[in-house]
Amino acid sequence: MTISPLMPVYPRCGVRPVKGEHCHLIDEDGTRYLDFASGIAVNLLGHSHAGLIEAIQNQAAQLMHVSNLYGSPQGEKLAQQLVDATFADTVFFTNSGAEAVEGAIKAARAYHQNAGDAGDAERFELITFSNAFHGRTMATISASNQTKMHHGFSPLLDGFKYAEFDDLESAKSLMGPHTAGFLVEPIQGEGGIRPASDAFMKGLRELADEHDLMLVLDEVQCGVARTGKMYAYEHYGIEPDIVATAKGLGGGFPLGAILATEKAARGMTFGTHGSTYGGNPLAMAAGSAVMDAVANPEFLAEVTEKGERIRTRLEQFIGNYPELFELVRGKGLMLGLKMKVESRPFFLHLRDNHQLLTVAAGDQTLRVIPPLVIGDAEIDEFFDKLSAGAASFKVAETA
Ligand SMILES: *Cc1c(COP(=O)(O)O)cnc(C)c1O
Repeated sequence: MTISPLMPVYPRCGVRPVKGEHCHLIDEDGTRYLDFASGIAVNLLGHSHAGLIEAIQNQAAQLMHVSNLYGSPQGEKLAQQLVDATFADTVFFTNSGAEAVEGAIKAARAYHQNAGDAGDAERFELITFSNAFHGRTMATISASNQTKMHHGFSPLLDGFKYAEFDDLESAKSLMGPHTAGFLVEPIQGEGGIRPASDAFMKGLRELADEHDLMLVLDEVQCGVARTGKMYAYEHYGIEPDIVATAKGLGGGFPLGAILATEKAARGMTFGTHGSTYGGNPLAMAAGSAVMDAVANPEFLAEVTEKGERIRTRLEQFIGNYPELFELVRGKGLMLGLKMKVESRPFFLHLRDNHQLLTVAAGDQTLRVIPPLVIGDAEIDEFFDKLSAGAASFKVAETA
């Protein structure tokens, strides 16, 4: 037997954390890492947030799981918090981001196909965008044009057309009698922290309104206060029909959701969708604790302020290394350093030689996505490690 007990779909990694302390991870052998990856935009309250721990501990002792066959005061509470904080009128809870996107795709199709005379049973296609990432289920890999995720898994699911990201004309040219809507990340995460332009997002909204199509946003990475707004669509002055959210929503507890307007949810009637775990009391307690912490103007303003501060310092910093870095982009604490070389070797160098955790992304970009609760000390430590890393990386490159 040569296969490892853990199915080897991820690369082996020497960082093996066993404990988290605020914005640091501590390894099996005691090494401390500064965590500016946050479990890929998940641990927005850091690793040892007292309110989140207490909420989970209390709920675990009361009631961990019951079936969705019963009423859910815990689910009603979190759904109301999300409805109060967003465009949504109604919420369906999932266990992951891919499931939230998957459910959002179903809702967009059902809007047309399960609405009787108001609908149009011929509409099933979603127009999606180049270099998108929507998850790893069959529908969500089919929704992305990234062939590296398709290999070995044919046939893909029908019903997706790929337009150029941030190119409204490209989206328009793919519209037809089968179009059900658009599915887009307002800020691409895995694709390299690429924010869509204002004109593009407003243009999609207008096209959707004109043709009675669903504007579905994948905010799994950019949602839940990450960009200094509760959800990134707020930056664009538009409201979507359906949003998939997850990652930060449980603060580290597996939790996602489909958010929808009443109109967009018209096809999601009795018996059309479900989940055994989705919305279980333990997940709801975690989600409510996260919302209590982040869904207020003071917290969001702090994210914006810290994001601007880091961005300004990053822009100064990259000036010292014009051969390594091209630009800084992103919003709030969802920042990307676009490099002039592949970002992965630099990410490994920071991790292994400077105990700084970031995440590599597409388009030669290094993701800077710290817990939203970082303070001055963590920001200073980040720049110390980054500067040292860039200096030693440069030496290694030219040696
Ligand atoms: C991470 C991510 C997903 C998938 O979420 P999982 O919880 O891994 O299934 C989907 N869309 C975007 C934009 C993501 O960043």
